[in-house]
Amino acid sequence: MSYRKDLGLVSGEQLKHEKSVAKLFAFLPNFDTDMPEKFEYDPDDVELKQLFERNREWAEEMVAHDSDYFSRLVFQAAPRYFYIGCSDARVPSTQITNLLPGDIFTYRNIANIVSFTDLSCLSATQFAVDILKVRHVIITGHYDCVGVEVALKQRRVGLVDNWLRHIQEVGNRYEHYLGEKHSKQMRVDRLCELNVIDSIANLSQTTIIQDAWARGQPLTLHGWIYGVHDGRIRNLGVTCNSVEELDARMGQTLKRYEDNLKGEVLAGRNWLPD
Ligand code: ZN
Repeated sequence: MSYRKDLGLVSGEQLKHEKSVAKLFAFLPNFDTDMPEKFEYDPDDVELKQLFERNREWAEEMVAHDSDYFSRLVFQAAPRYFYIGCSDARVPSTQITNLLPGDIFTYRNIANIVSFTDLSCLSATQFAVDILKVRHVIITGHYDCVGVEVALKQRRVGLVDNWLRHIQEVGNRYEHYLGEKHSKQMRVDRLCELNVIDSIANLSQTTIIQDAWARGQPLTLHGWIYGVHDGRIRNLGVTCNSVEELDARMGQTLKRYEDNLKGEVLAGRNWLPD
């Protein structure tokens, strides 16, 4: 029952669509039922106060372990790694690799997409490669990526749909590996993996990476995927130091999906190599 439908403000189809999107994000607060009637910002907001308290505790803890920790960081900003990942709050780069602030230069967007028209991503990459001279660029996707799921199911969410078109294109390009014979879960998992692989291919084609390789700068690209369900990182096998090497690695990796199509190899979230 819906008063909006009764009043003819929305169609039954639109209502059905809204419900399917709401189901995808059922873990988020519902503005209709969970919010107070009148909202006023509370300067003593306990949730925010906690952040400052936790920050103070953390800073004190770091200094207790290493008294020069912060003073050294001021003069040391030479990370070896550039991480491109998803904005998802469950995938923080330094935490999942058990590293510290200062160790990883990071760029994140929804669904870890590397697009030739994303000036922000290209700028971060150029700064990481040309200025910071990182040794490794790591694109890290993750299973249970809502962005990938929305793209695969072609749900309308809003402005972000335009951004997620990139992933729909990846899905179309690799449709062969997403075949209907796989479970829904496997299809989403696989598209999460293929999205990383495709982003590595895009990254390798940028002038930034091409120029770095041409001048002999030591720089390796990696494609990883992280399991939110088990906290483990998987290497997707597309590590490369040149376009030629990437072509070979891509061939091997996609062959793995071919084998999997024949039912010979496990993939998706259950796959845990090394
Ligand atoms: Zn994600």
